[in-house]
Amino acid sequence: MPFAATILTLFPEMFPGPLGLSLAGRALREGLWSLEARDIRAWATDRHRTVDDAPAGGGPGMVLKPDVLAAAIDASRHEGPRLLMSPRGTPLTQSLVRELAAGPGFLVVCGRFEGVDQRVIDGRELSEISIGDYVLSGGEPAAMVLLDAVVRLLPGVMGRPDSGHEESFEDGLLEHPHYTKPNLWEGAEIPEILLSGDHRAIARWKRRQREALTRARRPDLWRAYESGKI
Ligand code: SAH
Repeated sequence: MPFAATILTLFPEMFPGPLGLSLAGRALREGLWSLEARDIRAWATDRHRTVDDAPAGGGPGMVLKPDVLAAAIDASRHEGPRLLMSPRGTPLTQSLVRELAAGPGFLVVCGRFEGVDQRVIDGRELSEISIGDYVLSGGEPAAMVLLDAVVRLLPGVMGRPDSGHEESFEDGLLEHPHYTKPNLWEGAEIPEILLSGDHRAIARWKRRQREALTRARRPDLWRAYESGKI
């Protein structure tokens, strides 16, 4: 069974969107993964197809109704965990991406408005995942980020299975700089060592670059890397 993603959204027409192009899109057409975007509104029961209501206790915005969302979840046959994109969720990291990519798939709920009724989160055991400390207007772009990161790790999706190896975060460091031809461009040369053919020296150079970049830009990652080394 290929990796199966089920999306619950008020805007199913947003999918596959960018996931239908490039690497993920080719993999989708080749059947290496599957995507089903389901319209939460299809489970609305009243004449106006209402999916949201005013927050209990007052406050701005609207809240996705528990009955409608739960019905949408219950009607979805899906593989793997149930996720909810949410700014207060567990931060999405490469290790979480790896974990999800190793599984059978997932169902992901895209929130809108102020969010979803807490009772659905609890009652349907939704794991909240955040893509960063900023607020989007809806969960769809966040779900696309999550899927893009997961799909590229699925077997057969990336051209070269080893091209993920020295990437940012894979071993706790950011990536070294890249260069390609021409060797001289606008007066700037490719670092000589990269043209030397000395693979051990090149590996050392890359490692030093990665360490220096991580130390300068991400003290948090650097501290974790350093303490892991001891
Ligand atoms: N009132 C909420 C924000 C709601 S934003 C709060 O203050 O926490 C509307 C929807 O966008 C959310 O339900 C969620 O699904 C999605 N969303 C917004 N920011 C996100 C983020 N950083 N990561 C993941 N999903 C996000």
